[in-house]
Amino acid sequence: MAEEFHGYAAFDKEGILKPYSYTPKPLGDEDIEVEISHCGICGSDLHTIRSGWFPTIYPAIVGHEIVGKVLKKGSKVTDFNIGDRVGIGCQVYSCGKCDECNVGYNQLCSKMVFTYNDVWKDAEGVPTQYQAHGGYADKIRAHSDSVFHIPKEISSAEACPLLCAGLTTFLPLKHHKVGPGNKVGIVGIGGLGHLAIQWAAKMGAEVTAISQSDKKRDEAIKLGATHFMNASDPNDVKKFTHSLDIILTTSGDSNTDWTKYMNLIKNRGTLVLIGLPDAPIPIPAFAFMRFIKVEGTLTGGSQDMKDMLEFAVKHNIRPLIQKVPMKDVNEGVKMVLNGKARYRIVLEN
Ligand SMILES: [Zn+2]
Ligand SMILES: [Zn+2]
Repeated sequence: MAEEFHGYAAFDKEGILKPYSYTPKPLGDEDIEVEISHCGICGSDLHTIRSGWFPTIYPAIVGHEIVGKVLKKGSKVTDFNIGDRVGIGCQVYSCGKCDECNVGYNQLCSKMVFTYNDVWKDAEGVPTQYQAHGGYADKIRAHSDSVFHIPKEISSAEACPLLCAGLTTFLPLKHHKVGPGNKVGIVGIGGLGHLAIQWAAKMGAEVTAISQSDKKRDEAIKLGATHFMNASDPNDVKKFTHSLDIILTTSGDSNTDWTKYMNLIKNRGTLVLIGLPDAPIPIPAFAFMRFIKVEGTLTGGSQDMKDMLEFAVKHNIRPLIQKVPMKDVNEGVKMVLNGKARYRIVLEN
């Protein structure tokens, strides 16, 4: 009998998750099989189950904030032992030798396999019959280069959101060498933003948390923000005009007034787009005129992941989470969709 893994999959754009079993890829020499204990719910999961960005390969088991224990390993795996507590983020394979992998950008590897909504390829890069399925499940297989030790100081549930949300918000701050003397703005205080505020504050930057109302003011200050800006208050907007070196936007869509955010940035500063809305976003050309750069980002490479986990331990940075049993996965998804999550939902097996 073929082996089967069991999870909860979306079958169409409705995005309702139902039990689903699949045959995993054969365990390769360098692969690890993980028994999943926890999996975070990420915004990307929600876009994917409803084909928000592009058509999804159904049935699809999503989830790329995965923590569990090593159950099996290939004969060439030396960095991990059976029973080790490990994490898997947004990808399950990168080649380790292309131009991007060589400079630490595993997440841009041309041969990479995403954790879900993707297909495993053979050694020549030809797609196989094995679909890549994510962490709303009992088990997963991944190449050992895409598996990471979870430091003992971090609980399994709290580790989950770090593996995508944490890494995604940490990387641009690391790239821009944010530190003392820098003024950083974080737009949106949610699953991504509440981590971004903590990273930037512990890096020594002066952090301005930016929200659409006053509701999260106290929470933002508690997380480490020096200032709070209510983007709906014209006086606040005026006060912060041309004051920030770099802004990370974790929310915003085609209806957002992007010029307002661009105006907050100092000459030659940078806007980093982190949240990825389904539709294109309107930024008028004149908003770039002060040599403002706009850049995107995609999770992080293997070294970035290790740096991020180490930084989280050193500075005691943790996500704020709510746990939901794996079998109630649809309830968890609904909490995120309705904006009820404070701030990340983690499914527990
Ligand atoms: Zn994610
Ligand atoms: Zn590569």
